[in-house]
Amino acid sequence: MPPINRRRFINAAIATAGTTIIARFSHAQEIVSSDDATALAMGYVAEHTSVDTEKWNKKASPGGENQKCTSCSIYQPIDGDYGLCPIFVGKRVHANGWCNGWVA
Ligand code: SF4
Repeated sequence: MPPINRRRFINAAIATAGTTIIARFSHAQEIVSSDDATALAMGYVAEHTSVDTEKWNKKASPGGENQKCTSCSIYQPIDGDYGLCPIFVGKRVHANGWCNGWVA
């Protein structure tokens, strides 16, 4: 059996603990509502297929059909339904959501 790399073990333990803490407490966070001021400013919708592409033409760009929270590089999944987004601090966004801040 190979020797255990102490630094690797500690880093893995810290990462696991951090993920567990985020997952546990993020469920208590409010879900972004459609009338949230930031949501309105960013064109956020809970279901990406319902984006008004006349108004938010980024979503109508090539490959736009694949733009949603789960494909956004700043999305942090909590579970299959919700995740965290730094644009909506302290709140949860829908996994199938979208906003104009989408990042490839
Ligand atoms: Fe979703 Fe990305 Fe917009 Fe955040 S920035 S709401 S993760 S599409």
